[in-house]
Amino acid sequence: MVLVTALTEALGLRVPLVQGGMQWVGTPALAAAVTNAGALGVLTALTQPTPDALRQAIRETRALISDDIKAERKGKYGEIAVNLTLLPSINPPDYEGFTRAAIEEGCRIFETAGYNPGPIIKIAKQHNCYVIHKCTSVRHAKSAEKLGADMLSIDGFECAGHPGEDDIGGLVLMARAAEELKVPFIASGGIANGQGLASALALGAAGANMGTRFMCTKEAEVHDNVKKAMVDADERNTTHIFRTLRNTARVYKNKVAVEVVRLENRPGGAKFEDVRELVSGARGKKVYETGDIDAGVWSAGITVGLIHDIPTCKELVAQMEADAEKHISRLATLVSHKQSNTQAR
Ligand code: NAD
Repeated sequence: MVLVTALTEALGLRVPLVQGGMQWVGTPALAAAVTNAGALGVLTALTQPTPDALRQAIRETRALISDDIKAERKGKYGEIAVNLTLLPSINPPDYEGFTRAAIEEGCRIFETAGYNPGPIIKIAKQHNCYVIHKCTSVRHAKSAEKLGADMLSIDGFECAGHPGEDDIGGLVLMARAAEELKVPFIASGGIANGQGLASALALGAAGANMGTRFMCTKEAEVHDNVKKAMVDADERNTTHIFRTLRNTARVYKNKVAVEVVRLENRPGGAKFEDVRELVSGARGKKVYETGDIDAGVWSAGITVGLIHDIPTCKELVAQMEADAEKHISRLATLVSHKQSNTQAR
């Protein structure tokens, strides 16, 4: 059996799974491993210091991708996507430069996320690229659809990183997306196993986007202590920072995150400048490099409660595919061919 959806058909994937575009985690090694497992690997543009460094990262990723996958995706949009997240940043990035560098390197799939993807979508569509826009509300999804996004990635409240300010859980958000959108969408936030993938498909999604789950794989280039912290965590071990700044971000609940929340909740609140040093991405990067899980804030979704192992990407994707198929088959057995009581009346 195989799962065939609008996502697998459009991009030539074996399995309807996309890796989340994670800052400092979406590196060539992980993106290539996810793609080699039959899903879609995603390079995070802003993890690279410059557009030229992104070019190099794209070449490195391609060199790690198997010939089988290259052959399978020929005539589609290529083997990997590049993520561009448009959110407040301490050092505003050269988004357009990153986009053009990726296109010049032959990348034809983009995942945009955050505010106003219009200018990026415009450049990407001029070069016949496929754009997946990730957003946290149906109204933003509809705007992106009008701007030309080919697919939406609908990010429920369970997600790691920025869930927006509406606090709508995936169960309702996906069903609303299915009601409103004309283009296909994938489900993001809260999915870490085959049952989650099957549920996303049942809600009308064409697949699922997973960040936290792929971060806890052998190929993710984050320190083992971070992976161990995720395996040991339960679903209550994340917290929201930046709620009061309207740039909410779900992160692992460590000492720094607790301190940021304390500063935000003190009388008079906190301005970004008051927490800037604690929350900087450069500090978060140290967590992944050194394994000191309290060195800075780092993103994690509620799915940490569902993560109990550190598989290879190939093992993870194969297990999820098999489990999703098992759950879909099990659901089919619930449909009885006998006349229902309601019909009988
Ligand atoms: P950074 O060091 O620039 O900022 C650290 C955090 O502070 C980020 O969450 C950022 O959104 C927030 N921030 C920055 N300026 C702010 C302001 N004026 N008001 C409120 N919040 C503010 O972040 P970084 O780790 O170097 O990442 C660079 C960019 O990538 C940021 O915009 C970040 O949000 C974004 N990001 C991307 C992903 C992804 O999946 N691609 C994941 C997490 C964050």
